[in-house]
Amino acid sequence: MSIFAIKRASDNHGICPIVRGLEMINGDPCEYCDGKLQYRRIRAQFHFKGGTIYIDHVPAWVCAKCGERYFDAPVYKKLEDIAQHSDRIKKTITFPLADYERAAL
Ligand SMILES: [Zn+2]
Repeated sequence: MSIFAIKRASDNHGICPIVRGLEMINGDPCEYCDGKLQYRRIRAQFHFKGGTIYIDHVPAWVCAKCGERYFDAPVYKKLEDIAQHSDRIKKTITFPLADYERAAL
């Protein structure tokens, strides 16, 4: 079992979550708020080369309190690999985008 240092990925690099080793277990405390971490499958948002890629069903540790996400190091590596080969992504989703400055409410 490898132990990876806790690190926050730089903003220009990716999802900016924390990558941790394989030693995590359900109920581990969050680094920020001491909330309990739960192992879940999530839709990860990955910023890459000026674009944003969403990757479904990513295993992650999610803080039940603040929502901070943590990825095991091998998982994070795979997210990077998927982003590197984003030309192979077949499915595109659309979502509404509001503009705070122009909102006439
Ligand atoms: Zn938290």
